[in-house]
Amino acid sequence: MRRAHAAAICARISSDQTGQGLGVQRQLEDCHKLAESKGWQVAEVYVDNDISAYRSKHRPQYARMLEDIEAGRIDAVIAYHQDRLTRRPMEWEQFVELCDRSGVDQLATVTSDIDFGNDNGMLIARITAAVAANESARKSERVKRKMQQNVEAGLPHGGSTRPFGFEPDRVTVRESEAQVIRELAARYLAGESMRSLANWMNDQQIPTTGKAEVWRTATLRTILTRGRIAGLRDHKGKPAGTAVWPAIITLSQHEQILALQRSKQRQGRRAPRRYLLSGLLTCGRCGSRLYSAARQDTRRYVCSKGPDHGGCGRMTIVAAPVEQWIAAAVLMRLDTEVMRDVLAGRAAKDERHAQLVGEIESAQTAMREFAEMFGAGEITRPELLAGRKPAEARIIAAQRQLDQISGAHALHGLVGNGGALREQWGSLNLDRQHAIVRAVMESATIQPGKAGAQKLDPARIVPIWVS
Ligand SMILES: [Zn+2]
Repeated sequence: MRRAHAAAICARISSDQTGQGLGVQRQLEDCHKLAESKGWQVAEVYVDNDISAYRSKHRPQYARMLEDIEAGRIDAVIAYHQDRLTRRPMEWEQFVELCDRSGVDQLATVTSDIDFGNDNGMLIARITAAVAANESARKSERVKRKMQQNVEAGLPHGGSTRPFGFEPDRVTVRESEAQVIRELAARYLAGESMRSLANWMNDQQIPTTGKAEVWRTATLRTILTRGRIAGLRDHKGKPAGTAVWPAIITLSQHEQILALQRSKQRQGRRAPRRYLLSGLLTCGRCGSRLYSAARQDTRRYVCSKGPDHGGCGRMTIVAAPVEQWIAAAVLMRLDTEVMRDVLAGRAAKDERHAQLVGEIESAQTAMREFAEMFGAGEITRPELLAGRKPAEARIIAAQRQLDQISGAHALHGLVGNGGALREQWGSLNLDRQHAIVRAVMESATIQPGKAGAQKLDPARIVPIWVS
């Protein structure tokens, strides 16, 4: 006899820092509709926050759902798509077994149905699990057919290589890779270099989609700078309109990435960062920036006299202990309520970001116009130089403010995870460490120490936190 099912709705917020919160609302609405159409009672809704496929993170709501299934409180499960439910073949296997054991005979997803009541259903579920990484072919086919019927403009290009972040149909987002793209975008905007990010991809053993076995800087740059990941259709390397596929990063992030790239091209290749606190320490006597210097076999941060630096030359601190102390303080700071507030203020910063990018672009246009006038013989070289000066100053000023705002991007996925990060800290590359420190701490003033003191006196370090 058929009873009214007590259904669980299971949803997942893929990343709560990129405006995907809306996504979960839609997932839930569609799931509720599906429950209604099947005549199932929704017994409970389980929503987990921010899961990356490449890191095992605890999913308390999913765990609670498993408990409820085991306790017999649930006999049907609804998810938007199978990948919203479990991410790894083994997890899926366990889920299937638990359902089997506990009498859950109905599982429905908005995108495709898997019916445990059917004998083949279980087999199919297991096979689906095994190929979960390569994703639901059925869904791709369905999307592809619909696209061919409905859409002309914004269709993806063909091509033999699957675009990273998307299924072979080039339209369906592959969430596990989309997570990676969001992290890459955030870290690039936080100041990490493409090279460092490519190294990270290789360290994480994230597979490429092409023939190459390892990630190269150029491949990564192509992915991050193309409009594709922002839901734009490129034509000959330029965005040519809205695409049919969903955006993985926001349009604003896309523009920030392009602006940052342009500014890096302008500045030329910068030397890799050499020390954790480069540019972040200030002399407590004269207010000058401290520079790293090797003295008597020990690396120190010092206030330098002389034409290039103009400091008082009377401040020095041994580098290693101050680096350790500040790193520890930063990681602790990440787990405080204050940092949640800092992140919450980011929407406003995004707006300011767009404004600054606009300023830079208008200044660049002005510079181009002067160059064209000079090229056409309308103005002389001194006039050209004089005319460009204010525009250059505007660009530099806006860029400086942009750099400050971009810092918050480094915190992507980190706030509240300082404890976990502490264990990995030593294995992070310097660019990444610096970006994290920079995102949490504006700067630190170093106060004079007692003459001859052997150990670091933490009272000498006066951090100014980002707020
Ligand atoms: Zn000084």
